[in-house]
Amino acid sequence: MKIDTIALHAGYQPGNGQPHVLPIYQSTTYDYDSSEHIGKLFDLSVDGHMYSRISNPTVACVEEKIAALEGGVGALCTSSGQMACMIALLNILSAGDHFISAAAIYGGTINLFAVTLKRLGIECSFVDENASDEEVEALFRPNTKAVFGETLANPALAVFDIERFARLAHRHGVPLIVDNTFATPVLCRPFDFGADIVVHSTTKYMDGHAVQVGGAVVDSGNFPWDNGNFPGLTEADESYHGVRYVHDFGKKAYIVKARVQLMRDFGAYPHALSAFLLNLGLETLPLRMERHCKNALEAAKFLESHEKVEFVNYPGLEKDRYHALQQKYLPNGCAGVVSFSLRGGRERAVRFIDSLQLASNVVHVADIRTLVLHPASSTHRQLTDEQLAGAGITPGLIRLSVGCEDLSDILADLEQALAKA
Ligand SMILES: *Cc1c(COP(=O)(O)O)cnc(C)c1O
Repeated sequence: MKIDTIALHAGYQPGNGQPHVLPIYQSTTYDYDSSEHIGKLFDLSVDGHMYSRISNPTVACVEEKIAALEGGVGALCTSSGQMACMIALLNILSAGDHFISAAAIYGGTINLFAVTLKRLGIECSFVDENASDEEVEALFRPNTKAVFGETLANPALAVFDIERFARLAHRHGVPLIVDNTFATPVLCRPFDFGADIVVHSTTKYMDGHAVQVGGAVVDSGNFPWDNGNFPGLTEADESYHGVRYVHDFGKKAYIVKARVQLMRDFGAYPHALSAFLLNLGLETLPLRMERHCKNALEAAKFLESHEKVEFVNYPGLEKDRYHALQQKYLPNGCAGVVSFSLRGGRERAVRFIDSLQLASNVVHVADIRTLVLHPASSTHRQLTDEQLAGAGITPGLIRLSVGCEDLSDILADLEQALAKA
């Protein structure tokens, strides 16, 4: 099936007389005939739902759809994108371990990596994604367990060279984890370029309507976890009477462990209603992405040609430094987010933002409606100047999330606000 069809049909195929639309199974638990069967569920020797902190039938259908969209063997939905990043890493890293991350990533993820994971004894080295192979190689240590990057960085809009970083990670026997939130599988499927794990903030385009926060971890099933670097996946898990994930679950070892061990212990599982809403968003994801890409490219061209605009970041523009990588990784478009700076810096940026009438000034991105945000005073407020520069953010940078309205209305709004700025 092609991606538009997967978005509509994967995960839930009703049988004779069953509801046409994915039902909301609003239940904490599930009935079984015997204690013996429940015992087997706890031993992971049979499949089935037992408690909605670990799995739920509505959420499971959406997980199957997301896995199909990305071309993976399985997915785990989480209560937020942040939790997806956290679980993706903690599934394979423990205190004393180290990982490498691209510097141009979402501000919240930088905090998670640089502050909270550090408190747990896990160290992260940030690297400019334009660094040479040698510079990246120099960051690997004997305890390095993963490499992380965003397909299309929020909000720097740097395109991550997935194939190159996958090659570097694999040379050191560790997986590449890619946050594919902005690209979505409609525009890029990181597994096709060698990524091993994909994470999402489903809060963004996947949901697309700004109705709920959520995340997902997707497993390609391709990484050889039995290469000696990941004992947690090959040795007996005492909390499951000696289950050995690679031995017992093969290609799904990573995603099964993430669910039955970490989700069991953290309990950051989405509600059935959230999954139902996410599913509605996923159904129209390919349609919406087409419009977001088209509108954003035109908005970027308009801004690029305006005399008050200092620079525009949008890899779809021919002059953009990431244009060549965009042609390789995002040939059908690079989503709806454009970042740009006005001549005159922060003050003019704020005047411009406050003059917009159609675009909403909100702390969100990738909504069906056009949104605008000033990262330096909001999402990236906690970062040091050095971290800001690393994430590609200047004090006057404006993040515009171009929606699905009629293009002429979006351009008219930008034009009138620029006149007042
Ligand atoms: C928003 C975002 C996150 C965090 O997701 P939440 O759903 O807000 O927790 C992670 N990565 C990227 C690229 C994001 O845009």
